[in-house]
Amino acid sequence: MMKIAVIGTGYVGLPTGVGLARLGHDVTCIDCDHEKVEKLRAGQTTLFEEGLEDFLKTELASGRLTFTDEMKEGVSGARIVMLAVGTPENPATGEANLSYLFGAVREMAPFLPADAVVAVKSTVPVGTGDEVEKLIRESNPKARVEVISLPEFLREGYAVHDFFHPVRIVVGTQSQKARELIRELYAPLPNAPRFLFVARRSSEAIKYASNAFLAVKIHYINEMADFCEAAGANIHEVAQGMGLDSRIGPAFLKPGPGYGGSCFPKDTKAIEHMARKLGVELSLIRAAIRGNKKRRENMAQRVLKEVEDVPSPKIAIWGLAFKEGTDDCRESPAVEIVQRLASHNVDVCVYDPQAMTTARRILGDTVRYAPDMYSAAQGADVLVILTEWPQFDAADWKRVASGLRSHHILDFRFFKKR
Ligand code: NAD
Repeated sequence: MMKIAVIGTGYVGLPTGVGLARLGHDVTCIDCDHEKVEKLRAGQTTLFEEGLEDFLKTELASGRLTFTDEMKEGVSGARIVMLAVGTPENPATGEANLSYLFGAVREMAPFLPADAVVAVKSTVPVGTGDEVEKLIRESNPKARVEVISLPEFLREGYAVHDFFHPVRIVVGTQSQKARELIRELYAPLPNAPRFLFVARRSSEAIKYASNAFLAVKIHYINEMADFCEAAGANIHEVAQGMGLDSRIGPAFLKPGPGYGGSCFPKDTKAIEHMARKLGVELSLIRAAIRGNKKRRENMAQRVLKEVEDVPSPKIAIWGLAFKEGTDDCRESPAVEIVQRLASHNVDVCVYDPQAMTTARRILGDTVRYAPDMYSAAQGADVLVILTEWPQFDAADWKRVASGLRSHHILDFRFFKKR
């Protein structure tokens, strides 16, 4: 068992830190947000992930997991330091904003043990590992630190499951020592994981190439949904037929209001920005970025059209998180659609099982917030489903219908007649 430091306790860092402690490692999670650290120390999760809070409490009690906002305290003695801070989009250019990452590196470098391995978990542009290495050398010239790329592939909403059952662990390094250390780190996983050891730059590129591919796949099925609707075909039957072909596969063939979240939107733009700088054309990814933006606008238009003849219309919204299983509303298509509706002066009443607090930070008092899904639908002229929470699909539809002013349901997730 080894001592690990995880810098950043967000949607990636927290499940990773908790998971590593559960594997028996001695883990210190470091975050510059003092309030977050205090809550986590008290055993309260700062984000919603199924099963995470129970594991957090158990690992705190075991003494294997601690939280701090002090870099020195967190990093000292660590054999592996994982960087899991945010790399958000720079809205002006679309490129990844590396200021949090470089800030964290500068802060931790003076305290790094001489032979530590620094693993970059954050999604970073190709070549960032070189920059991180340079920064560490500048501030700590004696250290023989290895900087490796260890991209994260967990799915929000399934983060705990994915930590213990990773589909693959990609490691970007040429160092034999670092490879062995990473194997040792994950050795206690319940099933032997599939490791892929590659060059650091390849590893950094794998993360962007994977996310961009999935975004393109979503954009593709969304365009196909429009085509099927116009042509009188059923997109679900079409997707099922496509997915049976092993070269295509059934995953990510679900139409919806567009991709969102803290990864696909920013990562598609970041790789497109990198390519542009390198003089390479990524035409498919560019089309997906444009098409995805348009799709959100179209979805909002469809809702408005549904109530265009209704005086003072009331719109009920089920779902605000960018997907089911999370409270994350970053770049959520649902939130953007709601913002567009609210800007047309219609009465919008929203409900989400987990994302009311995170959504309220964005939407403020532009909408009404319902205590449950049935209250949200009460008296509405149209009900719109924007997040694929299973409880929405399993609703008591008779009860919903009795509350609606007229039976208009726009189901942009399950696409079922209700
Ligand atoms: P997040 O915004 O949820 O969390 C980042 C955390 O880092 C915050 O708690 C913040 O306070 C902390 N932080 C920032 N600067 C710091 C510093 N100098 N020292 C200590 N802590 C600092 O971000 P996230 O969603 O967990 O994403 C982290 C990275 O992982 C990003 O690069 C993202 O692209 C990548 N990623 C995210 C997901 C996902 O599903 N969210 C999946 C795979 C990869």
